[in-house]
Amino acid sequence: MGLNQFGLSELVAMVKKGEVSPLDVANDLFSAVDAVEPKIRAYIEFYAEDLLDEAKRLTNSGEYKSTRFAGLPIVLKDNITVKGKRTTCGSRILAGYVSPYDATVVGHLKRDGAIIAGKTNLDEFGMGSSTENSAFGATRNPWNLDCVPGGSSGGSAAAVAAQTALAALGSDTGGSIRQPAGFCGVVGMKPTYGRVSRYGLVAFASSLDQIGPITRSVRDCALVLSSICGRDPRDATSLQSPLPEFEGALEKRREKLTIGVPWDLLDLGMDPLVEANFKTVIDALERCNVSVVDATLPNSKHAIACYYTIANAEASSNLARYDGVRYGHRTGTYDDLFTMYTRTRDEGFGEEVKRRILLGTYVLSAGYYDAYYAKAQRVRSLVIADFNASFDRCDLIMVPTSPSPAFRLGEKTDDPLLMYLSDVFTIPVNLAGLPAISIPSGVTDQRLPMGVQLIGRPLDEETVLRGAADLEKMIGFHGGAVV
Ligand code: GLN
Repeated sequence: MGLNQFGLSELVAMVKKGEVSPLDVANDLFSAVDAVEPKIRAYIEFYAEDLLDEAKRLTNSGEYKSTRFAGLPIVLKDNITVKGKRTTCGSRILAGYVSPYDATVVGHLKRDGAIIAGKTNLDEFGMGSSTENSAFGATRNPWNLDCVPGGSSGGSAAAVAAQTALAALGSDTGGSIRQPAGFCGVVGMKPTYGRVSRYGLVAFASSLDQIGPITRSVRDCALVLSSICGRDPRDATSLQSPLPEFEGALEKRREKLTIGVPWDLLDLGMDPLVEANFKTVIDALERCNVSVVDATLPNSKHAIACYYTIANAEASSNLARYDGVRYGHRTGTYDDLFTMYTRTRDEGFGEEVKRRILLGTYVLSAGYYDAYYAKAQRVRSLVIADFNASFDRCDLIMVPTSPSPAFRLGEKTDDPLLMYLSDVFTIPVNLAGLPAISIPSGVTDQRLPMGVQLIGRPLDEETVLRGAADLEKMIGFHGGAVV
């Protein structure tokens, strides 16, 4: 058995006891990538040389022993910057761009003794739910190579599931960590908005974007989260708040949890397999003495419309910077500045990104701003108020992560609206800025994983993780993708 098949925390313990070295792990991971990556295509770039050199250096010096990650590799969605490395965001428009600085989260991971081992594939600029909108081609689901891994952090989720990564970071604007985690049978967490610095995360929709871990267990998720959280003076929206050691929180004894289920949101519809699986989870919780109560999120039925107004508005503004002057691609032939801008953008952006820039520009334009953008902001307040009211009655809210298991490649590419509906259960959480985790809750008889999502109060990642750890134990999901 290759060491890459062990979970991150397990390996950290083995390395610290001297049973294996960072170099042993690096070698096994490298062999796994070599064997499996051609089938999955989870990576845009794997830093094989860096990984092996750095693991050798650490192993020889023994420097890693006291650090949190003990010289083990972690990989990043390719919209997070690493100094001296390319950042593509899955787009042609960033061709040739090399980042001049480390994202704050990368600084934290390196400080804690992780080796950054590569960059994973994504929907262009995070826009999508299947990782099919990437200029580098689609990633495949390791459970079934004809299916999508979800998105937009599909490369990160697929690599963790296929055991070609021990742990990864993704970003979540409307579900992009949790949905692919659900589709690939792994754990994915979006922390509270402001918990993790966005400095060095290429902006899609700045009021919604958040970085978080994708791992094979709740314990690994807590380990990575403890490293990346914290106030950062370089991100004005990052929060100053006490930082618990999240792994410690998993052990704490606790009072009985109350979990709310918002049936009105679930009534929007889901695949019968997902519904049956979700009901099994509720039954099991009740048997384990968790009280399950009814919750209500009546305005979440407007969340998708509200999200696609706000996210596209913010995206149209954030993506204005890619004009051929400063970053990446510039068109070859042009007579004047205007033609240079328009040709560069036409050649550089994919279809979905263009669609969103158009929609976003429209909802912000004079005459339409109040009717669309301002109205969406008011709906966002209602969505937040619903969550606040629900949390008076329960500690956590539970919904399936997605209304269906992974769909087939190409199945939704011609119908953007159908694709947008994949995020019906994750988007309200981003609008409200809350912490939420997706953990595997079972597999269909076609062997496709399904996920269940626990949502917590602002800054209450501890309860989310405790609840998830209990649920993980109860469900006893011992997956592992067959590639
Ligand atoms: N799928 C959603 C979208 O296309 C969410 C993406 C994300 O969270 N980055 O916008």
